[in-house]
Amino acid sequence: MTLRLHDTLTRARRAVEPLEDGHVRIYTCGPTVYARQHIGNFRTFLFEDVLRRWLERRFPRVTHVMNLTDVEDKIIRNATASGHDLESETRPWIEAFFEDLDTLNIRRAHHYPRATEYIEQMVAIIERLESAGVTYRSDGSIYYRIAAFPAYGELSGARADGLVAGAGGRVDADEYDKEDVRDFALWKAVGPDEIGWDTRLGRGRPGWHIECSAMSMALLGESFDIHCGGVDNIFPHHENEIAQSEAATGKPFVRIWAHSAHLRIGGEKMAKSLGNFATVRDLVAAGARPSALRYLLAAGAHYRKTVNYSDESLHAATESVDRFAEFSDRVRAGAPSPGDETATDPRVAVARASFEAAMDDDLNLPEAMGGVFTLIRSLNRELDGGDLGRATRADLVALIDEVDDVLGVLTLVERERGPVSLSQAQQEALDAREAARAARDWAESDRLRDALASLGVAVEDTPAGQRWHRL
Ligand code: AMP
Ligand code: ZN
Repeated sequence: MTLRLHDTLTRARRAVEPLEDGHVRIYTCGPTVYARQHIGNFRTFLFEDVLRRWLERRFPRVTHVMNLTDVEDKIIRNATASGHDLESETRPWIEAFFEDLDTLNIRRAHHYPRATEYIEQMVAIIERLESAGVTYRSDGSIYYRIAAFPAYGELSGARADGLVAGAGGRVDADEYDKEDVRDFALWKAVGPDEIGWDTRLGRGRPGWHIECSAMSMALLGESFDIHCGGVDNIFPHHENEIAQSEAATGKPFVRIWAHSAHLRIGGEKMAKSLGNFATVRDLVAAGARPSALRYLLAAGAHYRKTVNYSDESLHAATESVDRFAEFSDRVRAGAPSPGDETATDPRVAVARASFEAAMDDDLNLPEAMGGVFTLIRSLNRELDGGDLGRATRADLVALIDEVDDVLGVLTLVERERGPVSLSQAQQEALDAREAARAARDWAESDRLRDALASLGVAVEDTPAGQRWHRL
């Protein structure tokens, strides 16, 4: 039972073996808070949530850090245009981000450092890089000299001479003073009226890449276990993080680099810049269920394969969620068969083992769920016939909870069903059935069971009395 993850740097599956015994330290690149994030971003955050949840199952301790990039060109442009300071410009977008995390039942990171609170740590790293002789200054700005770091390009596999600045999607228009097109800004000099910080390096603001090196190393140490992001982060962002961090510390920065593939829509990557994006809030307002969005983004495809957003794929995810949730309801609500079963049905153990093996094999949640649905299909027959014994039921409830500890949809389904209250007609029929059973009037009890079903309530009998759930 070893969890293996595909490592982008070595292009191999590597066992997660924490540097500190029993304690996994993980850094995930967070949102740039200039707008509400779209569901493409949440595809990556859900991959990270599933990873975090599975790590918590496998290791005694996990420390998860996700940064908030709250200083960046677009944020500054918006703040300057609206006359806001950075804090008031970014606050609504940070709140929107947390709201969407809750809508999708994403576990909170242990730390959400903001770039603006780590300027001193960034300055300190840049000073170390200056002493190491891998930087140069030009017009007050400070650049990293890629030629000074021979390992540059190993993560992305890009040939050093083929790298083009901004190829990762972000073009820094203000980086025109570079010696080499591949070099990147660590510190950007700004004028007295522009948003910036007066530091030992002069007045300026940090480049994007140094933010993540500073925040990850400040909170997780100079070497840590896992660093994640979407594939578009590989180059140049993560390539640059490695160059900066390792040149400053002389130590390997990260053990495993894990990247998720993109969410696509209509055959294209979902991106703010392409205008083809949708937000969680808008989709939910239009009727999408958060449980189905979560399922589609987290389990609709293996995290290293693209997943497509469409009406059909959302519909398929909705059906999967319902099949799982209904099975969970039936297993919990049903009465055990009268037999004297002591051992549980071996199919449950087989399903559990296959679920765990798929998750340990590079976090293959779709395959893991495939095994769960096979089990559901084969046990539904026994459930229909009332042939499931007590021990098997208890084992199944445990398995469902183990699966949902990672899948995270059942609490969302509960939320979507609304408050657990019955209409007057439903309550009266339930009370009448209870009375009929007390009077051993089985014909009336059966008649009321059917009546309740037509009112949308399923009722089953347990040793503790009748239990109901919505159909
Ligand atoms: P950003 O706010 O642009 O820094 O993006 C936050 C995270 O979302 C990064 O890890 C990106 O790699 C990821 N991301 C952006 N677009 C997509 C997409 N279409 N599918 C999956 N992940 C994405
Ligand atoms: Zn980052």
